[in-house]
Amino acid sequence: MMNKEQYLASLRKLKPVIYCNGRKIESVVDDPMTRPHVNSAAMTYELAHDPEYNDLVVATSSLTGREINRFTHLHQSTDDLVKKVKMLRMIGQKTGTCFQRCVGLDALNATYIVTHKVDKECGTSYHERFVKYMQEVQEQDLMIAGSMTDVKGDRSKKPGQQADPDLFVHIVERRDDGIVVRGAKAHQTGMVNSHEMLILPTTNLGPEDKDYAVACAIPVDAPGVVHIFGRQTNDGRRLQGDIDTGNAEYAIVGGETLTVLNDVFVPWERVFMCGEYQYAQEYVETFAAYHRQNYGGCKVGVADVIIGATAAMAEYNGVPNVSHIKDKLIEMIHLAETMYNCSIACSAEGHKTEAGSYYVDTLLANTVKLNCTRFMYEISRLAHDIAGGFIATLPYEADYKAPETRPYIEKYFAANPRIPTEHRIRMARLLENMTGGTALAESMHGAGSPQAMRVMLYRETNLEHKKKLARKLAKIEQ
Ligand code: SF4
Ligand code: FE
Repeated sequence: MMNKEQYLASLRKLKPVIYCNGRKIESVVDDPMTRPHVNSAAMTYELAHDPEYNDLVVATSSLTGREINRFTHLHQSTDDLVKKVKMLRMIGQKTGTCFQRCVGLDALNATYIVTHKVDKECGTSYHERFVKYMQEVQEQDLMIAGSMTDVKGDRSKKPGQQADPDLFVHIVERRDDGIVVRGAKAHQTGMVNSHEMLILPTTNLGPEDKDYAVACAIPVDAPGVVHIFGRQTNDGRRLQGDIDTGNAEYAIVGGETLTVLNDVFVPWERVFMCGEYQYAQEYVETFAAYHRQNYGGCKVGVADVIIGATAAMAEYNGVPNVSHIKDKLIEMIHLAETMYNCSIACSAEGHKTEAGSYYVDTLLANTVKLNCTRFMYEISRLAHDIAGGFIATLPYEADYKAPETRPYIEKYFAANPRIPTEHRIRMARLLENMTGGTALAESMHGAGSPQAMRVMLYRETNLEHKKKLARKLAKIEQ
């Protein structure tokens, strides 16, 4: 298992093409725009070597029997699924943001299940090929970007009906030695500081969309791959200072890209689906359920920090014991623990798949993420309510540091006499960072937009059974 330094060294060896704000990023490890995201992902490597978290972050490989990082593990029990959630909450508490590596973990687990099924029903040999790849991932402790979301073009049209055929990633050539793919993937969390991306389909497909049914692994710096780094709320502050950034070490959310695949060659050993369109929907749903499971882990870790910062702000403002503030903090705790409950439940109710690995309860996993699309907003709203307008009108860090203005800021932003003004400012900036803009939009759309969960809830629930229960008590004959 790599440690933090080895992970950073491994990233230095890669040469991905990344554009950001009109320039090229030469080193993701050193560039101030990407470094915080690297730090956050590095936590998944660092903690694997911390004896305190060994039980959560280290697992035993089902393929080799060796110790591996849980972020490369194929879940072997419901206990593994529960540990995943606990691990994500714990890391969220330490970073206060997204640490990105779960998307790849979920894509790997989904691919393991789906390739097994495709092989069984179609006589292909993707699973064996994937298991070999999986061993490579485990042995080298790779960070994989799970690359599902296509750019999608006109949302009313299927891939093949689009005016531009490249709006969904597709196979443009089948060769003796592999395939060539073209298209683009959007919202690619952790892409710039991953080693490889695992491409999978984004939607259900019909026979006319065979070429869009493609899954494969591609190094982030393969010829033809271009990344365009996404802008986040207040990200320019990273270039200016430390206090104003709020969470300078780890930034907000995952550092997403638009990743363009310009006729990228993929050798057969790394192709895990090639035309089996009938399995695209199941593939998407399996990946999505695993990823929706996570949000009651990582987002609750983030919520723990928001709740802590809010309680601290109440204290810094001098009002920790006012009853309405306590009530609001209780509400925040209730919301956070409810998200966590759902994650634990969908894990504990998981089951063994035909491939031998474990999969979450899909219905419950979808409740997790749907709750997040509301609860993270409500938690943030309550945080703003308690912290006060201070978090929206604070002066610049530069003015706080300038001799002409610092005494005024010190004097007029003092509140609780036991708390230095700088602490109050720092805590307010942390809250501003964690509860606004990009961070909230990620809680809404990460792992799928809310409508996708509603569709799944309707499909997965047994309404006929519920109607029968009601008819029986109402004494209504069928
Ligand atoms: Fe992992 Fe959460 Fe980030 Fe998704 S949003 S990659 S689950 S930390
Ligand atoms: Fe996410």
